[in-house]
Amino acid sequence: MTLTTHAIVGGAAGAAVAAATSNPWGLLGGFIAGFASHLIIDAIPHWNEGVVMLRSLRNPLDKLKRDLEMGRDFAYDVVYLGGESLLGLLVAWGWFSFGFFHFSPWAILLGTVGGLLPDALHLVYFKTRAWGVTQFEEFHSGLQHESTNIWYLGTEAWTILIALALLKLFA
Ligand SMILES: [Zn+2]
Repeated sequence: MTLTTHAIVGGAAGAAVAAATSNPWGLLGGFIAGFASHLIIDAIPHWNEGVVMLRSLRNPLDKLKRDLEMGRDFAYDVVYLGGESLLGLLVAWGWFSFGFFHFSPWAILLGTVGGLLPDALHLVYFKTRAWGVTQFEEFHSGLQHESTNIWYLGTEAWTILIALALLKLFA
């Protein structure tokens, strides 16, 4: 899934869990819920953004040999991925904190960070191939159902709308 989708759905999960408990641990619970939401929605068939959009991606079809090659293209990819993550956070804040709902901006931020973390761990894997990170990479990449067909972005829109509807239940 795109980082924008992960940020919005993670923010919704974080807001819902933090709102359901009144103690400060709710924020930690929201972070964990955001992380879990990432792995759940990665199993929904979705657009293969990495293959289509990233310029520095090497060995894209071999999940365990993939890498982002350092250089000018990598800098472009960091700006692109950072931009779409920030877009997701701003949309989540707009909807869930200052718009339809009034959930804590902190809960949304932590849910968003939790929702983005699994994909940040791709980069840790690419650059370290460390034990633990490798096992997580195998698990995480095994969850994916991806297509380079742009119409698969539609499943991401539905995923966001369903997350919004579920959040309404907690509002
Ligand atoms: Zn992922």
